[in-house]
Amino acid sequence: MNIDLRSDTLTTPSKDMLEAMLSAKVGDDVYGEDPTVKELEDKLARMFGMDYAMFFPSGTMANQTAIKLHTNPGDQVISDKYSHVYNYEGGGGAFNSGVSFKLIDGNRGMFDANQLLESINPKEFYHSPLSSLVTLENTTNKGGGACWDINEIKEIKEVCNMKELSLHLDGARIWNAIVKKNENPKDYGAIFDTISVCLSKGLGCPMGSVLIGNNEIMKNSLRTRKILGGAMRQIGYMAAAGIYAIENNIDRLKNDHIRAEEIGEKLVNMHFVKKVEVIETNIIVFEINNAIKKESIIEVFNKLNVQFDWHSMGLNKIRIVTHLNYCNEQHAYLLNSLENIKI
Ligand SMILES: *Cc1c(COP(=O)(O)O)cnc(C)c1O
Repeated sequence: MNIDLRSDTLTTPSKDMLEAMLSAKVGDDVYGEDPTVKELEDKLARMFGMDYAMFFPSGTMANQTAIKLHTNPGDQVISDKYSHVYNYEGGGGAFNSGVSFKLIDGNRGMFDANQLLESINPKEFYHSPLSSLVTLENTTNKGGGACWDINEIKEIKEVCNMKELSLHLDGARIWNAIVKKNENPKDYGAIFDTISVCLSKGLGCPMGSVLIGNNEIMKNSLRTRKILGGAMRQIGYMAAAGIYAIENNIDRLKNDHIRAEEIGEKLVNMHFVKKVEVIETNIIVFEINNAIKKESIIEVFNKLNVQFDWHSMGLNKIRIVTHLNYCNEQHAYLLNSLENIKI
């Protein structure tokens, strides 16, 4: 048995998804003539109660486009210190939009309205960069899949309104938050200026993200996507995978959440584990005991053919992510292995 829980991007399309892709009607989307891309975009815009949605090859490009739409060179973006836009997009904010970041020292990737207030540079103080955009992430990746309280987001939105700041949601895993909290996508559409959602994480598509917003802010998105190299041709084959995923793979995220909790319950009792962070969705982050060499832990799991994300979260933090291709048999094997492991 081989178990790969490094990320929820490690899924491959199911037979049914592949069939949906094969039978898609396509056209050249650069000419605006791909009906399946249009269908996906319309579906998501309606779902979030917003005017317009645009298909992107990646979440990074969707976020980078949003930053470009909301800022001018020299501006400052406010985000949590754990944010993907700051940590994991290759410095794209500076590269593409000429912005700097003000990082908030939040809790598991989340912060509150007061912390935001303290981070905004006063407009009239022209010595400092102009604060123009706030980005939130839900669920938080480096924060271990934590979900925001939507009331906190509403308070943040009030601050943004008062201070004339745009508000973007990096919703790569918004599906996990919506399922966990039993929310409606329209709750988010009513608050944010733009939202990026990912099809290639928990929903199991081979690629694709979508940026959603109202007409006014999205009017330059076509040009920005073109400049970033994201205008695609008969990409309806991939949009068909997205439509299939939205119709079939959202509710089942519950299973990923339950399994993550069950893995966490085992980890808590293991002596090589110092601390397991609160598990809310499909991500488990745990700290290893300093007295035990990380390499020896990795070796034991390698022998079991079990892969976790040993590196990207920092020196002593390990990430495990449950996903669509992680089946019951693998789960039983992993729980059993954790019970019997000796390190
Ligand atoms: C994965 C991820 C992205 C970027 O998605 P890619 O498709 O890999 O570029 C953005 N934000 C968060 C929180 C993510 O986890």
